[in-house]
Amino acid sequence: MRRIKVLAAAFVVTSLAAAAAGNCAEGADGRQRFRDIYKELVETNTTLSVGDCTLAAQRMAARLKTAGYPDADLHVFVPEGHPKEGGLLAVLHGSDAKAKAILMLAHIDVVEAKREDWTRDPFTLIEEDGYFYGRGTSDMKAQAAIWVDNLIRYRGEHYKPKRTIKMALTCGEETNSALNGAGWLATNARDAIDAQLALTEGVDGDLDAQGRHIALEILAAEKTSQNFVFETTNPGGHSSRPVPDNAIYQLVRAVDRVSHYEFPVQLDDANRAYFTGMSKIVGGEAGAAMADVVRNPQDARAIAVLDKNQNWHAMLRTTCVATMLSAGHATNALPQRAHANINCRIFPGVTRDDILAQLVKIADDPAVVVTIPEVRGPAAKPSPLTPQVLQPIEKLAHEMWPGVPVVPALEPGASDAQFLNPAGIPTYGITGLFTDPDGGHIHGLNERIRVGSVYEGRTFLYRLVKLYAEQ
Ligand SMILES: [Zn+2]
Repeated sequence: MRRIKVLAAAFVVTSLAAAAAGNCAEGADGRQRFRDIYKELVETNTTLSVGDCTLAAQRMAARLKTAGYPDADLHVFVPEGHPKEGGLLAVLHGSDAKAKAILMLAHIDVVEAKREDWTRDPFTLIEEDGYFYGRGTSDMKAQAAIWVDNLIRYRGEHYKPKRTIKMALTCGEETNSALNGAGWLATNARDAIDAQLALTEGVDGDLDAQGRHIALEILAAEKTSQNFVFETTNPGGHSSRPVPDNAIYQLVRAVDRVSHYEFPVQLDDANRAYFTGMSKIVGGEAGAAMADVVRNPQDARAIAVLDKNQNWHAMLRTTCVATMLSAGHATNALPQRAHANINCRIFPGVTRDDILAQLVKIADDPAVVVTIPEVRGPAAKPSPLTPQVLQPIEKLAHEMWPGVPVVPALEPGASDAQFLNPAGIPTYGITGLFTDPDGGHIHGLNERIRVGSVYEGRTFLYRLVKLYAEQ
């Protein structure tokens, strides 16, 4: 997934888009070839229910082979027992064997989409009114298509990078219960994806309601998603004879206490940089509150202002929220069991056990048993935002979108960075794709992205990977 935007439309416009630097692959032929790749990816259904990531991976491998990549540098991998959840690894060899590689990472699976709910067929790439429509047009087949297109362009120019450039297309990012391809690679093919740094989705550039460029975000850290279960049990009995001990009442009181609890504000490099950068762009009361909270994370007045925005509220702290509830076994019986799922989004650096201990305190009732039902992956670890990482992004942003600031962000959701960062591959979400304030309806109905944004992102990422590859 990537950030679902809820940024207010009250941004001050700082700049208009500048024209992209031109070269021949930027022309009509190059664009058409890119568009064909994008179309093929969008039109290959890769939902978990009926889709086929392996087929999409094979199709991309075929394009790279046609472009001249030898079989030895293309590897469609299929995790055992998951025939339709495969992916693709591809390599463009660098000249310096001692320099670590750059990894272009994209998930190619998409969220489910029902034709009857959509205005247009979700699995046909439709260009209309300046937008590309279709499931995955934004999350994240545009970037996946750009990665494939990059490799084809580099090969076509006989480009010999200093660092090896790798690409991994993976499945299983969008569904919690699915096998995650990036996680599978980190466990089973760690050497094949080893890299100085990896680039993937996470946060985008921000457009205002008029389509003007506001800020280019880079994902520097993300939270860990973790479920906890609250459970109460009771001998039960006949509902005609209630007793003071009741599993449902005990549970809902504990859940209610969670609803009233707010985790303390925390600042790290990522959200500090985000609020510092955005305070100047947003301006007004919210902008002042951002600057205040960076100066003093205990500033209650500033926190109250920022908490009105659900995105900023989530970026400031760990959050926990009740997401599922089930209780009782008959309408005429006292409940023997009640349980609630509490989904927490844990701030970077805080452990699951810390949150478990805190939830036990918040529940404040020994009758409520708090447990961790399953652990999906290691806890998220932020990647350092070094000048080596930031400077190429700032340089390109300055050339392509003069005056538009680069703003690091902490992502309340999660991406495949959660699997690569703990494996020692620093992973950054950077797309160069600028999206509308509504976020392009990712995961929802009628997903879309501006046509101009896709082509701009293509130029940006083509140049950015080269800058990293020459470092
Ligand atoms: Zn995604």
